[in-house]
Amino acid sequence: MATVAVVGGGYGGAPAAKALDEIADVVLIDPKDAFVHNIAALRGLVNPEWTDRVFYPYERLLRRGRVVRGRAVRVDANAVTIDSGESIAADFIVLASGSSYPFPAKMDVNDSAAAKSKIAHTRAELAKADRVLLLGAGPVGGAAGRHADVVVSNIHSLIEGRDELVAYEPAPPLILLPLGPAGGVSLLPGRGFVGAEVTAQLKGHDLFAGRYAELFNLS
Ligand SMILES: Cc1cc2nc3c(=O)[nH]c(=O)nc-3n(C[C@H](O)[C@H](O)[C@H](O)COP(=O)(O)OP(=O)(O)OC[C@H]3O[C@@H](n4cnc5c(N)ncnc54)[C@H](O)[C@@H]3O)c2cc1C
Repeated sequence: MATVAVVGGGYGGAPAAKALDEIADVVLIDPKDAFVHNIAALRGLVNPEWTDRVFYPYERLLRRGRVVRGRAVRVDANAVTIDSGESIAADFIVLASGSSYPFPAKMDVNDSAAAKSKIAHTRAELAKADRVLLLGAGPVGGAAGRHADVVVSNIHSLIEGRDELVAYEPAPPLILLPLGPAGGVSLLPGRGFVGAEVTAQLKGHDLFAGRYAELFNLS
């Protein structure tokens, strides 16, 4: 069976690893102990009931494959070297190491317990503040899921000896901004800004947290 090393267990890497788990020996590499659901990060900051819904441990994601906790420091054609010095041989390597944003939008520590404690500390500081200055209100958006689908489909084809490789075609971004408890504001291609009702319908009141609980076999 082919071995696939997936570097990064975020929105792209985790679903890709799971989708390949049945047809390949998957090794998912990430320095974190849990997937971080960034979309819910700001709600997790202000609402303690949401903090746990930002973190989804990797333990139950893969049925056959394994998760290696470590940071990839070198990637060669057929091997990934992680920071412990271990070299992980692979027939295919999926690079899904994402991007970084400052805390609290994304986590800057790898341990979920430490991240939750930073969130609690920041929430306490916010609660003490008389005024809060929000700098920057630009949209953030990702197409990691669409990239992952293309990668998974191509690895399937290659393992099965078919030549049907699909090229990634960027689609207009669907940008959802989870502002406010009930949905917030969305900027949709072709439609401009839409309000809380449409945003809530699009995103669901749970900010997709249910979807990730299911992906990580936690529901
Ligand atoms: C507050 C916030 C709200 C957002 N809201 C939305 C939204 O509503 N809609 C939307 O489409 N997008 C949204 N985004 C953007 C979205 O989170 C990103 O586009 C998405 O995270 C990109 O997915 P990814 O898989 O490429 O990377 P990530 O999800 O960042 O995953 C990367 C993973 O790789 C790991 N990693 C990094 N370096 C290494 C290494 N060297 N070795 C091994 N592992 C490594 C990291 O630990 C991480 O787990 C939001 C982002 C933020 C911060």
